[in-house]
Amino acid sequence: MEEKRLEENRQLREKLDKLLKEARRNEQTQTSFDSFSLSVVAAQGPAELFHLILHEQKKFRIDEIRLCLVDRFHEVERLLTESYQHSYKGLSFIDTGTSNLLISDIPDGPVLGTRIVNKYDWLINVEETSKYQSAALLPLKRGDEIIGIQLLLSKDPARYNKSDGTTFLQKLGAMIAISIENCINRQRTLELGYQDGLTNAYNRRYFDERLKHEVDRCVRKKTDLVCLFIDVDFFKQINDRHGHQVGDAVLVRLVALMREQVRSSDIVARYGGEEFSIILPDTGIQLAHEVAERIRSQVEQQKLIINDSTLSMTVSIGLASLSQIRLQMDSNEKNGSSGSSNELDQLLLGKADEALYQAKQTGRNQVVIQKVAS
Ligand code: GH3
Ligand code: MG
Ligand code: MG
Repeated sequence: MEEKRLEENRQLREKLDKLLKEARRNEQTQTSFDSFSLSVVAAQGPAELFHLILHEQKKFRIDEIRLCLVDRFHEVERLLTESYQHSYKGLSFIDTGTSNLLISDIPDGPVLGTRIVNKYDWLINVEETSKYQSAALLPLKRGDEIIGIQLLLSKDPARYNKSDGTTFLQKLGAMIAISIENCINRQRTLELGYQDGLTNAYNRRYFDERLKHEVDRCVRKKTDLVCLFIDVDFFKQINDRHGHQVGDAVLVRLVALMREQVRSSDIVARYGGEEFSIILPDTGIQLAHEVAERIRSQVEQQKLIINDSTLSMTVSIGLASLSQIRLQMDSNEKNGSSGSSNELDQLLLGKADEALYQAKQTGRNQVVIQKVAS
């Protein structure tokens, strides 16, 4: 009898130990998760946020993570990746125009199990699909609207079960959705500070920063870069004849037209007043000349109909390339004169401006490439 009670006691103590261990483990996981949540909410910018979501989160016994954001008009992708010229492994975007079917297939709440892996294989690299045995799919929602999905993948078939509770995952999804939404909004605000209010072109501040960055990048990559300076011919007359408002509309149209002629990765900026500047990274002078000539001739052919009268305008364009500036610096060095290599961007701007001045002096409505003495 006594022996039986002792055995029961021993078994009870064992159970209690096990429960205590599990409770301690849960507490540790909870603490670790709380600290992860705080970091996600406080993340400064997309790079940190995506590192947390796509890498740090793996410490919660997750083998791989996929994040896919719903992206109307490619705005989100541009906001989150462009300024960093970055892509994040595991992050993708689906746009509403072409992927309506995929979006309508996203469930309203988290779903778990072994079949999720195949059902959402379009989110996983095809060759990798067989590596994963179970998954949890979390819709990321703002109110009723789905802004994206997160797929948590495991090689262990028992990691995510169809019948597991989903309250925790629901909270996780909500927290990640809010953080992503905040990040997008912050990027929007940042970008607004870089835009010219009238034309939506980048402003001078952004242009100056970006030119430095692009010049450095192209020097490192050993590619060429061209800077265009564009000034509207006799713009004062347009204002005087048609009024300031029409003048404004002309500037807005001009920016749209310039954007049509360049790649989306080129930088169109309003340098001030009716002067614009375009950075063409990874571009040689010949191609840039063609682009500039296309802009010049498109502007000339453009007829703006305002108050029953047709308005036409022309632009003068000056060009300078990084390779020309560097050639000049090399030859200066050979001749013994000094030049600072860390002011390449300023030299480039100066040369493009000189070229524009020449274009104005020698007849306007033309493209001039700055000659560099060698
Ligand atoms: P040029 O061919 O030598 O460049 O002649 P221009 O008349 O274009 O040159 P100027 O620099 O004398 O005139 C620029 C004008 O642009 C003067 C200024 O009132 C006008 N301007 C500057 N910013 C704006 C703007 O935001 N809106 C409008 N409507 N006009 C502007
Ligand atoms: Mg002008
Ligand atoms: Mg001017």
